[in-house]
Amino acid sequence: MEREQKIEEALSIVWEEREKKVGGDAAVRARIYEKLKEDILDDLVKEGYVTVSGTLVKLTGPGEEKAKDIIRRQRLAERLLTDVLELDRREMDYSACEFEHILSKEVEESICTLLGHPVECPHGLAIPAGDCCQKAKDFLESIAVPLSKLKPGESGKVLYILTRKHPQLHKLMSLGILPGVRVFVHQVFPSVVIRAEETQLALEEDVAKEIYVKKS
Ligand SMILES: [Zn+2]
Ligand SMILES: [Zn+2]
Ligand SMILES: [Zn+2]
Repeated sequence: MEREQKIEEALSIVWEEREKKVGGDAAVRARIYEKLKEDILDDLVKEGYVTVSGTLVKLTGPGEEKAKDIIRRQRLAERLLTDVLELDRREMDYSACEFEHILSKEVEESICTLLGHPVECPHGLAIPAGDCCQKAKDFLESIAVPLSKLKPGESGKVLYILTRKHPQLHKLMSLGILPGVRVFVHQVFPSVVIRAEETQLALEEDVAKEIYVKKS
């Protein structure tokens, strides 16, 4: 393994330990040793990527940037391998480390876009957002309006449903409120009455607020 790659591996371990809220230098050193067969934490200090005070290991500004970048590429690679190439978790854990080091900035953005700017890796850990994710978010926000903001007589195409309550999401989907479906607003008070395909239904305002449409 090249020096630069070892530095990247060690930095990603510092990030992961912080995420687990452990972060003591002994745990970090042990994991670095386990992975690289040598403890290079002091090299990270020398390079200006981390500081160690007492047992506390902290990323510096440049260390934070570099670690965020490697973690992002690592977790995007995991998503790509499981979602697109359908490798199982065991194969993936082995291959994701290697792949991340060769994901260039342009490829990284294309992959992130292809995967729909995912926020979590297959293990449920956060994928740090990149420039492409922010741009996509800004773009979506510039065209998406909550269904509750439409007036009677207006219509729109469903872009996404924000609700985090799963039963509610499933209910909406079973009623045919899906991304891509055109909905017509008939009435907004006392309840929101809409038509989607051939179905007419009344929605509570709270629910109508969570359905985002592109007005048309
Ligand atoms: Zn790696
Ligand atoms: Zn993961
Ligand atoms: Zn993205």
